[in-house]
Amino acid sequence: MTLGGSLGAARRGSLRDVRLSHVITVLEELYPPAWAESWDAVGLVCGDPDQEVARVLFAVDPVAAVIDEALEWDADLVVTHHPLLLRGVHSVAATTPKGRLIHRMITNGVALYTAHTNADRADPGVSDALARAVGLTGGLRPMVPAEDDPRRGLGRIGELAAPVPLREFTRRAAAGLPTTAWGVRASGDPDALVRTVAVCGGAGDSLLDTARAAGVDAYLTADLRHHPASEFAEHGGPALVDAAHWATEWPWLADAERLLGASSPEAGKLETRVSTLVTDAWRLHEEGAL
Ligand SMILES: [Zn+2]
Repeated sequence: MTLGGSLGAARRGSLRDVRLSHVITVLEELYPPAWAESWDAVGLVCGDPDQEVARVLFAVDPVAAVIDEALEWDADLVVTHHPLLLRGVHSVAATTPKGRLIHRMITNGVALYTAHTNADRADPGVSDALARAVGLTGGLRPMVPAEDDPRRGLGRIGELAAPVPLREFTRRAAAGLPTTAWGVRASGDPDALVRTVAVCGGAGDSLLDTARAAGVDAYLTADLRHHPASEFAEHGGPALVDAAHWATEWPWLADAERLLGASSPEAGKLETRVSTLVTDAWRLHEEGAL
């Protein structure tokens, strides 16, 4: 055990009186697993509900750099948006990157919990935080309301305080989101006025037709591909604003952190942190030379 580990264990000996099971109960009230898509895998990935928790790290991606940060900070629980194990696995041997992560977490007593499409559908959820980050105000409404509660659902539609040209909205969106190599790109007339905007955190190309039908001026999401985006413009659809996948979901982490801390006196004792590591898949960006 390292010196840091010994000190961490001593420190936590006095603080550790919140059980992981309590944190899970709170997270599942905020983000009920039943709201997740049928293909999704949410909830506790590793960890013992009976273990005690003092430090919680929030991050978008359960990747090695985030687990490094969790271990360095002596976290007991990592809450991520993306699942580590989405498809069926037959082994978590430390012979694959994911297996190694599972081993490192279990060996060091770190639990991993995922809130993914259930957090997308929550109120407030992933797209509420994104909408506020890019300057939308007022009553946000879902792009696709949930059948049992129209206040929540997929994506959000809101208004800017005043109309601005697309180029200015794109600039503001970039300024409101964390910096990535990908940046923020837009299709459409740069001078067209934008006031009503739809947003969807993460890969939102399945909601392109929904955005068009909603009559918004612009639709901001991530992972848009050339052909759908090009055809969308040809059909006179709203402007498209394409941000880095990680950047569109990162604003939600602070919401989840705040809501967890405010949920109960016990949870209020937790030390929490939002990871600022940029774990977007794209790391370099160069302009063309011709
Ligand atoms: Zn995502």
